[in-house]
Amino acid sequence: MNPKNDPGRNVRNFAIIAHVDHGKSTLADRFIELCGGLRKNQMSEQVLDSMDLERERGITIKSQAVSLNFKSKHGPHKLNLIDTPGHVDFGYEVSRSLSACEGALLVIDAAQGVEAQSIANCYAAIEQGLHVIPVLNKIDLPSADPEVVCAQIEEMIGLDASNALRVSAKTGEGITELLECIVEDIPPPQGKTDAPLRALIIDSRFDNYAGVVSLVRVMDGRLEKGMKIQAMMTGGKKSYQVEELGVYTPLKAPQECLYPGDVGYAISGIKDIQIARVGDTFTSSLEPAGQPLDGFKKIQSRVFAGIYPTNPDEHRELRAALDKLALNDASLYYEPESSHALGLGFRCGFLGLLHMEIIRERLEREHNLTLITTAPTVTYKVVQTSGEVVMLNNPGELPPAQKIKSISEPIICVSILAPHDYTGDILQLCLEKRGTQTSTRYSGKQVAMEFEIPLNEVVFDFFDKLKSVSRGYASFDYKVADYREAPLTRLDVLINGRSVDALSCIVHKEKIERIGRSLAERMQKLVPRQMFDVAIQAVVGGRVIARTTVKAMRKNVTAKCYGGDVTRKRKLLEKQKAGKKRMKMLGQVEVPQEAFFAMLQSRD
Ligand code: GDP
Ligand code: MG
Repeated sequence: MNPKNDPGRNVRNFAIIAHVDHGKSTLADRFIELCGGLRKNQMSEQVLDSMDLERERGITIKSQAVSLNFKSKHGPHKLNLIDTPGHVDFGYEVSRSLSACEGALLVIDAAQGVEAQSIANCYAAIEQGLHVIPVLNKIDLPSADPEVVCAQIEEMIGLDASNALRVSAKTGEGITELLECIVEDIPPPQGKTDAPLRALIIDSRFDNYAGVVSLVRVMDGRLEKGMKIQAMMTGGKKSYQVEELGVYTPLKAPQECLYPGDVGYAISGIKDIQIARVGDTFTSSLEPAGQPLDGFKKIQSRVFAGIYPTNPDEHRELRAALDKLALNDASLYYEPESSHALGLGFRCGFLGLLHMEIIRERLEREHNLTLITTAPTVTYKVVQTSGEVVMLNNPGELPPAQKIKSISEPIICVSILAPHDYTGDILQLCLEKRGTQTSTRYSGKQVAMEFEIPLNEVVFDFFDKLKSVSRGYASFDYKVADYREAPLTRLDVLINGRSVDALSCIVHKEKIERIGRSLAERMQKLVPRQMFDVAIQAVVGGRVIARTTVKAMRKNVTAKCYGGDVTRKRKLLEKQKAGKKRMKMLGQVEVPQEAFFAMLQSRD
C-alpha cells in the first residue's frame, strides 16, 4: 500500500480516559510490551510518566504519545496512543489531545466504579465526535464487580456498556482483544495528503539542545523534513525550518515525512515555547492553509499568588528558576511584584491549585529555594466610579472603596459524584462555600450533583474538604462559567500598627466580621512570641474589627531544659531552626509561611 494515496487506512489514534489510579499507565505499559516498542531491559514501569514529580503524584502533566506497531488479525496497524494530562486543572490540554484522536478508551476500575472526572472527559470526547470504547480494568481483583460498573456507565454516562471489554492491565488478560477492538471500532483518520499542511500542536516542551520539541498530529497535508512552517495563531509570520521529525515508539524514531493521521514530534529551531502553544496549528509557509484548526484558546491563569524568597538575596535565583520553568510551561505566568512587607518577588498565575503546588514544589526542590507564597487569589473584575474596568489579581491593588462601583468574581460550575450517603454533607459544604445547587441526579447508589460556586471559595482546600466529608469517595470536576457581581471588600491585617500588604485579601461582606476575628485569632497562634508584645489587627476600610496580642516571650526557650540534658537541648534548638525555614521578617516580627494562608482557613 502506498502511503501517499491512503496514508491513514492502517492508523488508529486514540486516547485513554481514566480517573487517577484506574490503571492508565499500567495499560499503556502492556500495550508497549505487546507491540514491541521497547526491549525487555528498556522497559520500566509506567514508561509514560517520566518526570519524578509526576511519578510521585501519579499524574501526568504533559501530553505524550506513543506509536504502537500492532500485528492485528486484519494486518499490521499503527496505533497512536495519545496520553492526556490527568487532572482537573488541565481541561484545555485534555480537550486538545482528544481532538487529535478518532477514538478513546474509557478505562474504569471495575472495583471502584465511575468517577466524576471520567464522566467530564468522556462527555468532552463524545462532544468532539470520538468513538468511545468502555473498558473495565482490574478484573483480576476479587472485589471487581463488572456488572454493577457496566450499569453505572450506562446510567451515568449514557454509553452502551453491554459489550464493555473486561481486562487486567496487571495480568495482561484481555489486552490483545482490546487492541483488536481498537482496530475494528475506531474509525481511521481522514485528511487529504494533497491539501496544505495543517498539524495540530498537542503539546510542546523545551529541550536544552534541540529547542522546542512539539508533539503534533497531522490533520491535512504532509509535514516533511526541511520544509518551512509557521504557527498560525501565535507565531506571527515568522517561519521555521523543520530540522527533525519522527514518532515515539516510545523511543524517538526519526522519519522523513508525517502523513495525515500521523502523530509524532517536530523540531524546527523554535526557541520559545510561547510560539508553539498547545492547540495552535502548524502550516506550511510556502503554501499556508486558509484556516487554522478549531479550538485554540489563549491560556488564562485562574489562580494567582505572590511568590517571594525568604532570603531577599535569592531574588535573582528565583527569577532564573521561573524563567527556566516557563521554558517548559506555557501556562505559567509571572511578573515582578514588590510588596512593602515581603520585598521583591513575583506575582504568578496558574491554571489551578495543583498547578500552583507543582510549580512551587519544583522551585523549592529543583532550584533549592525557600519561598513564601501569599494566599492564592482569583482575578476580580472591578468597575470604578469613573467607568474604568480593571481586572485585578492582587488584593493589595484594590482601589479605595469610594472609587469602586462594583466588584465581580469568577464563578465555576462544579460537578460532584459520590455515594448518595454523603449527599447531605456535600450539600452543606458547598452551601458554606456560597454555592448554589443547579442539579442532582441519582443513579443506583451514586449521586451526581452540580453547583455554581465562586472560584475564590474553592481555591484553597475545597478538594481536601470534599474528600474528607465523603471519606475519599467523592470526585469532582469544574469549568469556569462566568463573572458575577458580589458584595466584596478588602480585609487588611496590621502587625504592630503596620499594614502588611501581602496579607490583604478580598472577602464577602457578610462573612467579614467572622473572618476578621478568626484570622486575628489564628495569627495569634501562628506568630511566634518575640521579645516584645505583637499586636495583630484585622481592619476593614480603616475600622478595626478584631484585635489580638502575641504576648512577649518571658524566658529563653532552652531554659525549659533543666541543666544537663544536652541532646534534648540540641533537639529543641534544631526544631527551632527547622521551624525557621519559611519565615519572613515583617519589620521586627518574624512571620511564618502558615500565617499567609491563615486567612483561607479563617473563611470556614
Ligand atoms: P493511572 O493513575 O491511571 O496511571 O493508574 P496506574 O497505572 O498507575 O495504576 C494504579 C494502580 O493500580 C497501580 O498500583 C497498578 O499496579 C494497579 N493496577 C493497574 N491495573 C491493574 C489491574 O488490572 N489489576 C490490578 N490488580 N491492579 C492494577
Ligand atoms: Mg498514571
